[in-house]
Amino acid sequence: MCCYDCPAGAGSLADMDKVSRTDAEWRERLSPEEYRVLRTAGTEAPGTGEYTDAKTEGVYRCRACGAELFRSDAKFESHCGWPSFYQPTADDAVELIEDRSLGGVRTEVRCARCDSHLGHVFEGEGYQVPTDQRWCINSVSLSLEPKPENSERRTATP
Ligand SMILES: [Zn+2]
Repeated sequence: MCCYDCPAGAGSLADMDKVSRTDAEWRERLSPEEYRVLRTAGTEAPGTGEYTDAKTEGVYRCRACGAELFRSDAKFESHCGWPSFYQPTADDAVELIEDRSLGGVRTEVRCARCDSHLGHVFEGEGYQVPTDQRWCINSVSLSLEPKPENSERRTATP
């Protein structure tokens, strides 16, 4: 028996893929700033993140577990001080949680795989993007994997 009420076989594919670590393990793996933002729902200071103005093409992964979260083609300039995207790569890559911590209601964005805090999503602000959403994500929660420069294809020569 692995635990008291193990929902054996009840999990979805996404659940099976979940990453869960103890607090001590996260502290060991992450820098203090990464830990503060990812694991205690902190926020990096606006305009200081390494990806705020990044235009590099590539894939943004979760800094904590490596899951793909966003692509550079959904990134746009919101001038809000944090990297902004108009949609995640996949809806089930992220988890949305109601956040009432600052008085109003905001929607917190977490990585669905490891439950780490990423940022917040705002809607209906009037940005000229296809979804009218701003996924405002801390740079420190992300890790950019640039698209390989040499996209030469190895095709057979005629
Ligand atoms: Zn993650």
